[in-house]
This record gives sequence, C-alpha cells and structure tokens, in this order.
Amino acid sequence: MIIVGSTNADVGIQRGMDILRNGGSAIDAVEATIRLVEDNPEDHTVGFNSYPNVLGELQLDASIMDGSTLETGAVAAVRGYREAISIARKVKEALPHVLLAGEGAERFAAEMGFEHQPHMVTEKISELREERLKEDMPQEVFAGLASRADLHQWVRLATDPDKTGGTVNVLAKDGRGDLCTGVSTSGWAWKYPGRVGDSPIIGAGNYADNRYGAAGCTGMGEMAIRSATAHSVVFYLKTGASVEEAGIRAMQDLNDLGGPYRAAMNIVALDSKGTPAGFTSTKGRTYIYQTSDMTRHIEQERTFVNVSQRWN
Ligand code: ASP
Repeated sequence: MIIVGSTNADVGIQRGMDILRNGGSAIDAVEATIRLVEDNPEDHTVGFNSYPNVLGELQLDASIMDGSTLETGAVAAVRGYREAISIARKVKEALPHVLLAGEGAERFAAEMGFEHQPHMVTEKISELREERLKEDMPQEVFAGLASRADLHQWVRLATDPDKTGGTVNVLAKDGRGDLCTGVSTSGWAWKYPGRVGDSPIIGAGNYADNRYGAAGCTGMGEMAIRSATAHSVVFYLKTGASVEEAGIRAMQDLNDLGGPYRAAMNIVALDSKGTPAGFTSTKGRTYIYQTSDMTRHIEQERTFVNVSQRWN
C-alpha cells in the first residue's frame, strides 16, 4: 500500500494512510487526503481561501479516477463549495456523466447536500489579488474589470507563468491492489472567468488504470491538456517502460509542444506495482510518499526534465 502526492498533500497523507491501513479503498484514501488540503486555509491553490479568477471569484476544478473500473467524476469552475474532490466523486457515483461545469456543478453540489459557502476567499487574499493585478494594470482598469469588453487583454498580462499556480495530486494503491488518482485546484491565479485547466480533464491532469499505473499533473494545465500528459505516462507504462522512463517521456512530449505558451510542468506517478516517481521542469522540486510500513511520509526530489519556457 502506498500514497504518493505533490508536496502540499503533506497535511492529509497520514489520514489517507490510516484509511488504507484499516482496510479502506484507494478512492477513500485519496478523497480524505485531498479534503484536508482543500480545507487548509494556508494552501492558496486548492479549495478554500485560494487564489480567485481575475474578477475575484474562486472557481475550483477537481477530478477522481478509479483505476479498477476506469470510472471517473470531475467538476470544473465550481463556485461556493470547498469540497471539490468530494463533489467530483459524487458525479462518478450519482450520475451517468463524468464532468459537470459551473452552475450545473453547483446545483448538483447542493442536491448532494454539500454546504454552500458564500465566502470562499479571505480579505487577505482579496487584497493580494488587488496588489498583484495592479502591477499589471492601471487603477481605473482594475476598478472596471467586471464590465470590460477587452478582459482577455488584461488576463493575458496577469496570468504569466511567474504568477502563482498550484494543485494537489494524490495517488494511492490499496491493499487489494486498486489504484486511484485525485486532483484538486483553484487553477491559475487571476485566470479568465470560466477557464478550466487540466485537473478535471481525464487524461490531461489525471489518469489511473490498475493494469499499468497512475499519474497526476501540476503546472500549466493548458500544456497537459494539449499533450494528454497523465494518460501519456500510463500509456508509456503500458508499452513496458519503467515509471521513471514513462514520466521522462511524457515530460519530453511537453517540451515538443509548439506555440508561445510553454511554462513549468510537474508529474507524480505510480506504476501498478506501487513504485512512485516524480518529475519536474523546475530544478529542486519535491514530491512525497508514504508506504504502509513507514511511520511518516518522506519528501523526495523529483527527476528534472528540461521543458524550455516561452511566453508571448
Ligand atoms: N494545473 C493547474 C491548472 O492549470 C494549475 C497548477 O498546477 O499550477 O489549472
């Protein structure tokens, strides 16, 4: 049994491991681990109190995939609920669909009994948004953003790759050998309203298949969508590559993408035997994992793979 995650999953990984040790499923462990990250007010990239879109509204994306059946559930651009991963799981369990977006996802969350939270962003984060956006635009533009007909121009300036992003990835293998991957995020800070990243897109930011392995992504979601990165890792595993080779090849595919918008990317992966691995295009980044015989998780450096950055 093992749980693997992006480093910000450290607040929940022990809870996930306790579930696995008590005979719980990979999907229960993944959901519980991610819920603690979503509730962590200090993590400004996942769940409650995260960086909002350019208009100051927090829109969350999440997905969960069961590697034993390839069933998935996902939500995109959900406002007013902090438990994006649990709503995603409910989509999998209560509907014949795999992805709900925006108002429909919010309606579904209410139907499933999740509590509406009108205040998802603290004053401090709102002030930070104002401070950051005013670095890129004059006061009068900032003040009138909601009604501007050229919002896309200002978002292009505000969402450059040096501004803050972040996501949580959690992968687990349970005592029955089942794999699950969960991903949850507030997406890119100051994004265009309605922008959806890779996290809720199965094959892009999330993929799990018991037969081969599982993968999750953080970083510039548009790249993972274009390259189907999480599925690529699992596909390379299917062709017989080791988890280390599979991750490196998926990262190299990202480096082959054309066009101007190429930024930082990261992957965590697990093969069907439970071997963990992490990859990054930013030297020095880490991931975490804990096996059932470890009393605490360990932090491990990710394999660096160059993805040269271009912007504009
Ligand atoms: N992958 C996330 C997204 O594109 C953001 C991130 O991980 O930085 O929405």
